[in-house]
Amino acid sequence: MAGRFAPSPTSDLHLGNLRTALLAWLFARSTGRDFLLRIEDLDQVRVAAAAGLAERQLRDLAALGIDHDGEVVRQSDRLALYESALAKLDVYECYCSRREIAESAQAPHGDGHRPYPGTCRELTEADRAAKRVERPAALRVRAGGVTWTATDALYGPVTGVVDDFVLRRGDGTFAYNLAVVVDDGAQGVDQVVRGDDLRSSVPRQAWLAHRLGLTPPTYAHVPLAVGPDGRRLAKRDGAVTMTDLAGLGVTPTEVLTTLAASLGLARPGERVTPAGLLDRFDPAALSRAPWVVTPNRVQPS
Ligand code: GLU
Ligand code: ZN
Repeated sequence: MAGRFAPSPTSDLHLGNLRTALLAWLFARSTGRDFLLRIEDLDQVRVAAAAGLAERQLRDLAALGIDHDGEVVRQSDRLALYESALAKLDVYECYCSRREIAESAQAPHGDGHRPYPGTCRELTEADRAAKRVERPAALRVRAGGVTWTATDALYGPVTGVVDDFVLRRGDGTFAYNLAVVVDDGAQGVDQVVRGDDLRSSVPRQAWLAHRLGLTPPTYAHVPLAVGPDGRRLAKRDGAVTMTDLAGLGVTPTEVLTTLAASLGLARPGERVTPAGLLDRFDPAALSRAPWVVTPNRVQPS
């Protein structure tokens, strides 16, 4: 049994990401689970543009006292695993451009994901041969619009329609939705705690786990951090990463206190450790409201 934190190494972890990591650690450790770290670095273009980020993310987590079990896993080392999962699934080639899908009649779901209209689902082999010349094919799984439900610890049942989503992009990159399900299954992760922005992917991922003969994990989607303007916390909000904050003289211990205080687990200025928070942590008491961060308030105590 294990929980995990699985950052993409494309930007430094900000206070919201760090709070999610702390929550994932608390959920795992308070239930006797291992805690794993996984670097989700399949998008090689974005990763190359952000060299050294994975190392900084790991360093920041360690500085907060968020420890982990086993070796840190990198998705870029695990392509054979995704390939063999792909071989077990009913997939078909899709030649649609983003624009063609955007121009199709279907309205986006609430999360902005536009359900695939099925354009390439029933092409003949002759059609495919002709299309392949025009554009490298993505691979989509034949899900056929099934409705799927899984349970979230904070939100209860999460239900959604599963469209024929992409498992491998036209450039050969395995899709997040495939890799995350394969890895959680292969690593024995049975508890997924992550930001609320990913809640809408639950039906897709739980369905895919089921298709691969895996037991879907339990989910907890935790609140995002937002800036004073209510938008998702970002660089424009000021000092929001450990590096920014260190530049202002804020220590990792003080960052941890800020995170714990935002969860009602510490008093402002109190010295805490992650392990010291375990007795205070009650998942049932977690708020679902976003955490409003006023960056210049995160100060040395
Ligand atoms: N790598 C994803 C992210 O950075 C998280 C994946 C997950 O937790 O399922 O947002
Ligand atoms: Zn298509």
